[in-house]
Amino acid sequence: MFGHSVKLFDLFGFEIKVDASWLLIAALIVWSLASGYLPQVLPGLGQGAYLAVAVIAMLGLFGSLILHELAHSLVARRHGLGIGGITLFLFGGVAELVDEPRSATSEFWIAIAGPAMSLLLAGLFGLATMATHAAGIVGTIFAYLASINLILAVFNLLPAFPLDGGRVLRAWLWRRSGDMLEATRKASGAGTVLALGLMALGLFSALSGGGISGMWLVLIGFFVLNASRAAYQRLLVQDGLRGRRVAELMTPDPWTVTSDMTLAEVADRVMLAHAVSFAPVVEQGLVIGQIDASRMREVPREHWATARVADVMAPLTDADLIAPRMTAEEALHRLSEGPHRKLIVAEGRRLRGILSLRDLMGHIAVVQALGRGAPRRPE
Ligand SMILES: [Zn+2]
Repeated sequence: MFGHSVKLFDLFGFEIKVDASWLLIAALIVWSLASGYLPQVLPGLGQGAYLAVAVIAMLGLFGSLILHELAHSLVARRHGLGIGGITLFLFGGVAELVDEPRSATSEFWIAIAGPAMSLLLAGLFGLATMATHAAGIVGTIFAYLASINLILAVFNLLPAFPLDGGRVLRAWLWRRSGDMLEATRKASGAGTVLALGLMALGLFSALSGGGISGMWLVLIGFFVLNASRAAYQRLLVQDGLRGRRVAELMTPDPWTVTSDMTLAEVADRVMLAHAVSFAPVVEQGLVIGQIDASRMREVPREHWATARVADVMAPLTDADLIAPRMTAEEALHRLSEGPHRKLIVAEGRRLRGILSLRDLMGHIAVVQALGRGAPRRPE
């Protein structure tokens, strides 16, 4: 469900998108308002009227979420950070920061801007609620939006990285120690503890008759737990690859095959002999294609003695090639977004090595194992 987002419009130069999961939540909100909350606080209206009021309230929530993310985005832009866009999804929104804040001060202001906006909206809707005495359709909508914005501000201020409050906590730790990675580790640790607490509370509440709202807490806890771990992992990966180039991390001088070899020869002399399931096809020093075990399997085994590499190899495309000078972070992006698990490292078409996701992960693991104090090669 994630990753299927639809662009709605541009606001201050930011792309506003909704994920399919948000539409589900929006429908759930409309349904629960129209069938539960509204008939209770506004008795005596028809089904159609409840539905219309519920849709308006949901659109108000939608606008509130966008303003929250917009506040993050505008402050991030002022601090010189790129923003990919704003996407609303399951539990709210994300302003997609292209890179991490460069200083603890930037981090603090960017993180606090969202909850500050939600608090401001809660205050404004609160005043509007008082002005309308919380009465009638308009007063009911104002009261709903005042409380929902207050909840948004409080929830986002929970000190659980990567929630806004967790980012504020990280900014504070970062400022104290000067070590961003260590600050992130602690802040996401706090996120994990808090998430487990929320889940336990939700489970307890559900078991003692809280029903749906308890399960809701469990779900939110689960979401925070995953998000805090993923955010820290992502940072470890970035840190592990920083300043490294493809040439340093690739497997140099890989086993190669020629296009006139039979599949039987490839299997026996190359793949089984050297424990590789992938080989570049090289002709007169230049890469012309690649072959792997899955392509071999498509040919019935009885033909392996006669079928040649030239018949089954994948011809080379630009998507298969990567330059040795490319940064390891770009290479990771290519490997994780692209269709290939392995890339051929070549200058022009001259083979230099092979780079796989495993090469990158192996390097990150070693950086981790050596610890933060280990000497690093100059960048
Ligand atoms: Zn936020």
